[in-house]
Amino acid sequence: MVFEDLGLSAELLRAIGEQGYDEPTPIQQRAIPLVLSGRDVMAAAQTGTGKTAGFTLPLLQRLSANPSAKGSRPVRALVLTPTRELAAQIDESVRTYGKFLPLKAAVVFGGVKINPQIEQLRRGVDILVATPGRLLDHASQKTVDLSKVEILVLDEADRMLDMGFIHDIKRVLALLPANVDRQNLLFSATFSDDIKRLAGRLLNDPELVEVAPQNATADRIEQVIHPVDKIRKRELLSQLISVGNWRQVLVFTRTKHGANRLAEQLGKDGLTAAAIHGNKSQGARTRALAGFKAGDVRILVATDLAARGLDIDQLPYVVNFELPNVPEDYVHRIGRTARAGLSGQAVSLVCVDELKLLRDIERLIRRELPKIVVQGFAVDPSIAAEPIVNGRGQGGGQRKGPDGGRGRGQGRGRGGPSGGGPGSSPGGLAGSRPRAAGNARHSGRARRP
Ligand code: AMP
Repeated sequence: MVFEDLGLSAELLRAIGEQGYDEPTPIQQRAIPLVLSGRDVMAAAQTGTGKTAGFTLPLLQRLSANPSAKGSRPVRALVLTPTRELAAQIDESVRTYGKFLPLKAAVVFGGVKINPQIEQLRRGVDILVATPGRLLDHASQKTVDLSKVEILVLDEADRMLDMGFIHDIKRVLALLPANVDRQNLLFSATFSDDIKRLAGRLLNDPELVEVAPQNATADRIEQVIHPVDKIRKRELLSQLISVGNWRQVLVFTRTKHGANRLAEQLGKDGLTAAAIHGNKSQGARTRALAGFKAGDVRILVATDLAARGLDIDQLPYVVNFELPNVPEDYVHRIGRTARAGLSGQAVSLVCVDELKLLRDIERLIRRELPKIVVQGFAVDPSIAAEPIVNGRGQGGGQRKGPDGGRGRGQGRGRGGPSGGGPGSSPGGLAGSRPRAAGNARHSGRARRP
């Protein structure tokens, strides 16, 4: 199929042509005709599937086919998204695809001055991309009028709920025309019960679009586990990057503090690295991302929330310096590579503390991941598993385990198809090569406290 088959206007086809896209992705093939027909859509699509163009292209077409009355320019399409980075990227997509159309777009998110946004909104905007909090700030100051919204897009709806935006979303919905009077599109990587409840309230007779099996990781992503002792993770990472001559590497840590510290340590190893997380100012985040995209910064160290929705073209390497506490985040993380038809590599450095997390991930993706011990980094079988403590001691020396606390989310992901107790091979380091015997012992110790 080609884009011309989808019923898009010449202006949009021209903009798509400039992007060099050969053909629509599966989500685009399904979603574009539906949105053009005016239907409500509930789409299960992960980042990297081309979903942004999947809703942006038909949205632009519908608005331009039916222009506003002369002189007035109310907000007619509202795209809500959880993070500032994602909002900025969607805004960029709207501008890219809409460059030959007489429509105006704006983006509002927190962490930056509100006055320029107010000024822009005052001048009139057809398409508004927003994070919920800042949008509500504008609403309370009466600097935005949402009563004329014809199309609402909830992007990354699952993450918005995870981030606690449900009340903000409800407040925004109350400012819109009745849901029967607008077109509603909901995009989410997963369909939890909460998402289904939200969809029930929001969507009218929606068409369901699902392009990849839920939580299945993209086939094009080469995934590997490198078992390693916690205290040697940084050393291993530096070696993998230097020896492999990896150029653009997105590295995930579990905590903001861990991200800062790792970026600093990598810098001392002579590798240019920047950290990106919620405690950084918007300016610092934008600079780090721009440096990374431009190739000036080789390694971007990020937490899950900060990385969600980052659109970095052709990202070849994703490294889990620490496994996420929530198995679904593994799928989100590795979705940062192998985007839009390209292949990619997802490497996870896993220490004995994380074996339970690894098993949960393998159950979720219904696949046992290959485990390869890097020469010189065999795990020390005498090191016992310690509880994962969020917010301290990440990626560094041995912890004393002072509080015996459980990592968040560690009770999740049970009951998957692979079964097996803590000592069984799926998810353990027992399958590692070349130190099978030592690692088997290692695996057997990996009981949660
Ligand atoms: P998204 O899933 O919307 O974040 O998009 C992921 C990436 O795919 C972005 O960098 C888009 O520019 C790119 N992209 C979107 N549609 C296509 C397409 N049909 N062909 C190739 N790349 C695409």
